[in-house]
Amino acid sequence: MKKIIYLSLFLISCSSFGQTREIAITIDDLPLVASKMDTPGNQQRSTERFNRLLNALIDNQVPATGFVIAGAIANGQWAFLEQFRNAGFAIGSHTYSHFNLNRMSAEKYIADIERADKVLTPLFTQPKYFRYPYLAEGNKTTKPLVQEYLNQHNYVVAPVTIDSKDFQFNEQLYKVPFRSRENYVYKLKPAYLAYIWKQTLKAEKKAGDQPVKQILLIHANLLNSYLLDDIIKMYKNNGYTFITLTEALKNPAPTLNAPTKETPVDDTDGDDSIEYDEFAFI
Ligand SMILES: [Zn+2]
Repeated sequence: MKKIIYLSLFLISCSSFGQTREIAITIDDLPLVASKMDTPGNQQRSTERFNRLLNALIDNQVPATGFVIAGAIANGQWAFLEQFRNAGFAIGSHTYSHFNLNRMSAEKYIADIERADKVLTPLFTQPKYFRYPYLAEGNKTTKPLVQEYLNQHNYVVAPVTIDSKDFQFNEQLYKVPFRSRENYVYKLKPAYLAYIWKQTLKAEKKAGDQPVKQILLIHANLLNSYLLDDIIKMYKNNGYTFITLTEALKNPAPTLNAPTKETPVDDTDGDDSIEYDEFAFI
């Protein structure tokens, strides 16, 4: 009897070690990429898209953390952010102007974080998260200065372990006429989901046998307003459990960041290099 119990315990611990797949969703560029609020029609479209994104999270009962570009909050979009936070999701800073730290002084960059802080303070959840635009953490001069600033102001940097590169698929959507976009989303869907899955397998492979926690990067854009539900279901069908960013940071998988001249892209896995300059941000 004892033997059976020991054997069962052994099997349970083996399976939970070997098959634990955990992932946190992070959504950049809130409130909504390329959204306009200047006419009643645009307001309606933006509201519908934001609600679809939010409802995909609520309906699937998964946690998420959103990163807001403080300078991109159009009139009427503050309510989107409050809705997001009031639904129980976390909100962090993604700066005011979405600058690239690999291309500017630490001083100017820090001033931009401070500017965002003034706007976003009423929205922040705890801990106060920060996500670098373009995942650009600066060079050997700027990096320590910005990191020190973030530490002193109680920011916790939110890394990424899986990059969906959704902006590339989203760009394709904007190339088709406005009225055809909804149909085109579903044409893009198989390739987009397959790409995210490929990126996921790559991240898991990089982590080796370690039971690490993944952090997915997607954007608050048109594409995901239609397909976030499918992304969540794909992960669930493959045995993943959704966790908060805070939980993921206890043991994250290897993190990604944008290359600098000093640290060129690690392309040893033979994949395409990361071109964060191509982020579709307006
Ligand atoms: Zn961004």
